Amino acid sequence: MVYKHHPLEETTKTMLKERGVNIEDIAELVYFLQEDYIDGLSLETCVEHVSGVLSKREVQNAVITGIEIDKLAEAGHLSEPLLEIVQNDEGLYGVDEIIALSIVNVYGSIGFTNYGYVDKQKPGILEKLNDKLSGECHTFLDDIVGAIAASASSRLAHRLDHRQ
Ligand code: MG
Repeated sequence: MVYKHHPLEETTKTMLKERGVNIEDIAELVYFLQEDYIDGLSLETCVEHVSGVLSKREVQNAVITGIEIDKLAEAGHLSEPLLEIVQNDEGLYGVDEIIALSIVNVYGSIGFTNYGYVDKQKPGILEKLNDKLSGECHTFLDDIVGAIAASASSRLAHRLDHRQ
């Protein structure tokens, strides 16, 4: 297999899109997290950093794994008791958060703070993903999207720091 041109990054972006999440939606979360701290921050810069996070193999693996479980749950193709747990996004089930933290882990401690914050506030696309009336299951995806945004914020902050 030729890994050099491995399409996993494209697959990751396609899967996100199919589940209703565009790069710009995640970039808006980054903007939300960073606008008070970075003068003249543009959405374009946020998009750039989200793309940077999505280029990491560890992140791609987390995204495709989480989305796959959501899709299986949505289609009723998981066994019980996991099916009900994932469909209902049960409070004591923290495996979705652990997968999301594996993304944040790549970018260090600022990411953890930001992740906790977006997870509580649920702005923009996160509110949409959490709409329980939609019939869709985004138990893993909401945490993953929050983690990508938190990581991109962390990446952005680190880059600016290195410029000084
Ligand atoms: Mg969740």
